Amino acid sequence: MGYVKGLRCKECKREFPKEPIHVCEYCFGPLEVDYDYEGIKKVVSRKSIEAGPPSMWRYREFLPIDEDPKVGLHTGFTPLVRAKNLGKALGIKNLYIKNDSVNHPTFSFKDRVVAVAVSKALEFGFDTLSCASTGNLANSVAAHAAEAGLKSCIFIPDGLEAGKILGTLVYGTNLIAVKGSYDDVNRLCSEIAADHKWAFVNINIRPYYGDGSKSYGYEIAEQLGWKAPDNVVVPVAGSSLITKIWKAFHEFEAMDLIGPFKTKVFAAQATGCSPVTTAIKNGTDVITPVKPNTIAKSIAIGNPADGYYGVKTANESGGYGEDVSDEEIVEAMKLMAKTEGIFTETAGGVTLAVTQKLIKQGRIKSDELTVICVTGNGLKTQEALAAAFAPPQVIEPHLHSFEEIFSNSIMA
Ligand SMILES: *Cc1c(COP(=O)(O)O)cnc(C)c1O
Ligand SMILES: [Zn+2]
Repeated sequence: MGYVKGLRCKECKREFPKEPIHVCEYCFGPLEVDYDYEGIKKVVSRKSIEAGPPSMWRYREFLPIDEDPKVGLHTGFTPLVRAKNLGKALGIKNLYIKNDSVNHPTFSFKDRVVAVAVSKALEFGFDTLSCASTGNLANSVAAHAAEAGLKSCIFIPDGLEAGKILGTLVYGTNLIAVKGSYDDVNRLCSEIAADHKWAFVNINIRPYYGDGSKSYGYEIAEQLGWKAPDNVVVPVAGSSLITKIWKAFHEFEAMDLIGPFKTKVFAAQATGCSPVTTAIKNGTDVITPVKPNTIAKSIAIGNPADGYYGVKTANESGGYGEDVSDEEIVEAMKLMAKTEGIFTETAGGVTLAVTQKLIKQGRIKSDELTVICVTGNGLKTQEALAAAFAPPQVIEPHLHSFEEIFSNSIMA
């Protein structure tokens, strides 16, 4: 039923069968899903997509499942918001926010990758889901495990935000906090994966998982009226999203769904964890792993799995990479909320603050069509803003109590 031919090594191009594997056994390159594009081209058109469901599954021919999707049927097709107020504040005329802070069901872009990974895990016959997560993936895997009726065991670094922890536990999973950073968690999970026949969505299911991210790029193009933007600014952790947005635009071009494009792809990281943007700035494609130290915990991966490809994407597209301090992240979160009424998490603060930097550097110009990627919800990272606001004024339930503070000009 599907259009997946198999897996293929991104480096040596050797072919592999559709299995829960992710590394080439010859050259250790990452495996990628290989599609029958000729077959897809015969059945897919703008019209057929527009007639599809209001979810990421309107692009199902481009997603790596063979049977009907089994979970996450309502995921994706999130708003592309024309951000006039924010654009004005930044001094640019043509700004959009792709808003996955309202993605179904766990309010981050991770629901896209997990919808695909869990549907695929069910096709493979797994009974247990697992992952190494910086928080949002944990939320999403736990929720989709509940929906699928599968067992789950989820690993996070200790010290994550309360919202990310409770937002995982509530689904009735086994949540394990590991002393150390995400990179320690990930290494441990690779060892566990050798002993337990579980579907680790971002390890042995990674080739399928990653392609869920493509839907974010497809939606940007469709929602812009079937064209790619001039610029897209992407928050980067493992570098899956940034490379797959780029892939999505290329696939749509090859399928004649959009015309030729010259999108510049910009990588956004926090200075406290910027292995990818540092490599871009230094003009090298060699990633030097770092020890993360930033409030942007959801994108704090010091040794990114696809970092090399993230750098390549920014360079190939003519984009760039920048990073910002924790203070700049907090200011940007507040600015987005104040101008657009969108409360993003720290990662969205990173994206916006980096965009501000790129505008100042002249890398993003006023009349260019720019999309910034908001990938997660601010209610999950409230700690970041804990010191930013005084508590509300408390009054007695009497008119004169209100008039008293009102005359003290609270409406300023
Ligand atoms: C995971 C995540 C990203 C980036 O993920 P990649 O690993 O680079 O694909 C961006 N924003 C948020 C909120 C995330 O949770
Ligand atoms: Zn290979």
